[in-house]
Formats: sequence, C-alpha cells, structure tokens
Amino acid sequence: MLTIGCHLSISKGYAAIAKEAVGLGANTFQFFSRNPRGGRAKAIDPEDLEAFRAYAREQGISRILAHAPYTLNPASATEKTRDFARSVLAEDLPRMEHTPHQLYNMHPGCHVGQGVEAGVELIAAALNEALRPEQTTTLLLETMAGKGSEIGGRFEELAAIIERVELQEKVGVCLDTCHVWDAGYDIAGNLDGVLKEFDRVIGLDRLRAIHLNDSLNPCGAHKDRHARIGEGHIGFAALSAVTRHPLLRDLPFYLETPQDDLSGYADEIARLRSAWSE
Ligand code: FE
Ligand code: FE
Ligand code: ZN
Repeated sequence: MLTIGCHLSISKGYAAIAKEAVGLGANTFQFFSRNPRGGRAKAIDPEDLEAFRAYAREQGISRILAHAPYTLNPASATEKTRDFARSVLAEDLPRMEHTPHQLYNMHPGCHVGQGVEAGVELIAAALNEALRPEQTTTLLLETMAGKGSEIGGRFEELAAIIERVELQEKVGVCLDTCHVWDAGYDIAGNLDGVLKEFDRVIGLDRLRAIHLNDSLNPCGAHKDRHARIGEGHIGFAALSAVTRHPLLRDLPFYLETPQDDLSGYADEIARLRSAWSE
C-alpha cells in the first residue's frame, strides 16, 4: 500500500490529526513541531498520546513526520539565530521520543553570505550538539531549491553535512520534488538519472521520505513555489512515477501543495493511490 499523507495542523493534538488524516484517505501525516515562525511547543498530553497510539495501530499508521520551523537556521551568521536553532533542536528531538522511531525534518539553513563551506560546518556542528546516541528519531535534511543562500540545493552539500556528523546513523534525507526540480534535477525527464546521482553522492539508503509537490516554475528556476499535483511544470504523470518507482514506492510521501481546503488533499491522495495500484 502507498504510504501517503499531507501537511496538517496538530493544534488539536495527535489523536485529532491522525483522525483528520484518515478522513482524507491518508495513512501518514506531517505537522510542524511548533509554530512555523518559531515560538514555544505545546505541552504533550499523555492521554492524547495514548489515544493516538491506539488509533494509529488500528488504522495502520506507522510513519509520521514532524517538520522543524522555517525560522530554524543553524548556518546563520548571527549568534542569536544560531542559538535559537540550537534550543529548538534541543527541545524538539527529546520531544519526538514520545512517538519513537519517527522522522524529524529540517531545512539545512542559509549561509547568508558566509559561503557554503562555512554554512556546512555550522550546520554539522549544530547536529553534532543535538543528536544523541539513545534517540530513536531519524533527523532528515531536506533537499532545497537553492534559492538565495540556501544550503542543500545540491546533493553534494547535503553529503558534506552528513560527512561531518558523528552519529550518521541518526541522519537521513527528505527529497522534496518541487525543490530538486527547481534546483535543476530533471525528475520529469530523467528520474532514473537523478536517483543514480542521489545514490552516487548521498546514498539511496539515506532517503527516508519524499515531499510530493508540483512546481510553478521550470526546472532549474531556483524559486521554490509549490503547485498542486498536475498543475505545475512537473506534472501528474511524472509525480505519480515518483510514487511508483521501485526504489521509492515504499517510502512515505507527503503533499505540501497549496489548497483552498483539505478536500484538495483528499482528491490528490485518491488520484495518486489509484495510479499507484494500477
Ligand atoms: Fe520543508
Ligand atoms: Fe518540502
Ligand atoms: Zn518548498
């Protein structure tokens, strides 16, 4: 079965978000670990967690993905911003252990003029401080569009970060289809070639999740503007092919497409599921 879900708000708790996901035809979901602009995380309610565990077991939800706030930038030139990133990671990762063996995704960061090399060093230093041998969570670095001074637009940059991490077994990669496309990897025309390149540079065993988004812009535009599945330059056929590829089909897929309401996600999930099982 295809493991697919979308980004949802966890404001009403774990049990509520899982029910909402199932109502949309999803069997996984993504949520912000806290307010996307930063701020404090809500306290975890043990009763909610217990209800979530029972419901997830019943519905076959075995994967969930927490997304770190966008404001997280361990590669910043400003110490205060780096400190914020450090404190978020120090709080979020232990919190993830309430739902063991799950995924925590972050944007690697922006070097803001210091250069890729310096940014890579700072990100790796933050990870080396945050990762713990006893954690069961896998921290994912997201592939980025390479907009501005974003790090992670090239597979080589993610590989360079991972290379400098001590607890490498705790680190994986989340491939965002809109981002890699905007970064210049032609997943519509040459998916096999892109995966071969990913494998050569990073290793496909590091690939743990996919953000499935169409793109408003052509390949290599370095823009990062998501489109609904089939309404962008990548197209439905190519994105469906990503979910059906033998090397990818068992990964969890997450939609982060712009929707007027949640029924748009339900529609995309249904169309992708039906193409997957054909
Ligand atoms: Fe993201
Ligand atoms: Fe993404
Ligand atoms: Zn994006």
